[in-house]
Amino acid sequence: MAWDFSTEPEFEAQLEWMRGFVREEIMPVETLRLTHPQLREFIKPLQEQVKERGLWAAHLPPELGGMGFGQVRLGLMHEILGQSPYGPVVFGNNAPDSGNAELLAAGMEMTGRHDIRERWLEPLLQGTMRSGFSMTEPHTAGSDPRLLKTLAVKDGDEWVINGRKWYTTNGSVADILIVMAVTNPDVHPYQGSSMFVVPVSTPGVTIVRDVGAMDDPEVTFGRFGNHAEITYQDVRVPADHLIGPEGSGFLLAQTRLGPGRIHHCMRWLGQSQRAFDMMCERALSRYTHGSYLAEKQTIQNWIADSRAEMHAARLMTLHAAWKMDQVGASASRDEIAMIKFYGASVLHNVIDRAIQTYGSLGYSADMPLEAMYRAARAARIYDGPDEVHRQTVARHALKNYEASEIPSDHIPTRAAAAREKFAGMLEFLEAEKV
Ligand SMILES: Cc1cc2nc3c(=O)[nH]c(=O)nc-3n(C[C@H](O)[C@H](O)[C@H](O)COP(=O)(O)OP(=O)(O)OC[C@H]3O[C@@H](n4cnc5c(N)ncnc54)[C@H](O)[C@@H]3O)c2cc1C
Repeated sequence: MAWDFSTEPEFEAQLEWMRGFVREEIMPVETLRLTHPQLREFIKPLQEQVKERGLWAAHLPPELGGMGFGQVRLGLMHEILGQSPYGPVVFGNNAPDSGNAELLAAGMEMTGRHDIRERWLEPLLQGTMRSGFSMTEPHTAGSDPRLLKTLAVKDGDEWVINGRKWYTTNGSVADILIVMAVTNPDVHPYQGSSMFVVPVSTPGVTIVRDVGAMDDPEVTFGRFGNHAEITYQDVRVPADHLIGPEGSGFLLAQTRLGPGRIHHCMRWLGQSQRAFDMMCERALSRYTHGSYLAEKQTIQNWIADSRAEMHAARLMTLHAAWKMDQVGASASRDEIAMIKFYGASVLHNVIDRAIQTYGSLGYSADMPLEAMYRAARAARIYDGPDEVHRQTVARHALKNYEASEIPSDHIPTRAAAAREKFAGMLEFLEAEKV
């Protein structure tokens, strides 16, 4: 029987290197407030070091220029990278480019079209091209993509796309957009939607604005990490810009979102651990009402609860990653859904407790906690709102049960049944006066 929580020594050595590298080389860059072009230059030597260690773009299989790590190792890696918002970009696996590269790879596998690799996949991997994932629309519920309205109609050798999207992360700095559109409104949306590569320079693509949001309310247009609102008006793309076969949009979305959620959850654990470290340090340092915060039971409860919740989320996430490696994303849907909502709440709670422990300093921008808190709030919404994932888990769990007018565990009913079943034995006990 194999039931093992250990990491093989060679990979543990890589993880140890990553921990030091993120702490010593990446985290200090956070405080410099570089513009995105400055940041790109700044991190080039760091990216070179990552490539030399064989850790670049580890989410893709070796034949596509990645390392083919599998989800468990990737998860362990993301836990470390997630401690800093710059970690993923230094390691060549930042969202949404990494997920989009996975999508393109899946499309390539489905169709055997190897031109995709040279045109879009390689440049994304090299970091010479940037991308956005354009699915959510302002006027339809993103939590139910069966309602999507953006339409793509075939016209000769071209597709003509019309629609409005928003929250396309990095849309205003992207070179290409991956757009989900309805290609056949007459069949079920699961078979009637497709994904396209749309170069931003295509006539009819308008980046209307970057949406001011909790992570950046006073948004400056064209900043890396912004969320763009985009209109597609009679946008014409050649037929070979369709990713995968026509109608495979939902299938592709699943391919992208399953592993993506594991990586998100592990990055959230990295963030939670960072908040936890800050909380513990402050608890040992701040003196009030006759003792250090660390000696007060409320603070101790926060520390203990945070540790337990982070441990639970970590085991759940690594188990989901392991299951994905064993049986694939589709058979791991419940596990992935559970970590999505559980992980998001742990992230939120740990950062919230850390802020409280720091008081006014925690609320101030002199500590990273307030920005972490704002970013954490979004985790309950993106990748599908938590409520939808809870619904999936509950619906699947309920399939194992049947309605019963009298509860199966109703004691009087069970006692009557037991008396009938063991009548002989009961008579014997009575006769023998035992
Ligand atoms: C920071 C951030 C980055 C994002 N990046 C991208 C991106 O790059 N590309 C992209 O396409 N999209 C992106 N999104 C959009 C995201 O995917 C959607 O916001 C999400 O799918 C929810 O859709 P919605 O906002 O339309 O909410 P709605 O669908 O309107 O849902 C609103 C609320 O209704 C409730 N609800 C919904 N369904 C149920 C249910 N079944 N049961 C109970 N309650 C329910 C939930 O509380 C939910 O929050 C991003 C969002 C955020 C916040």
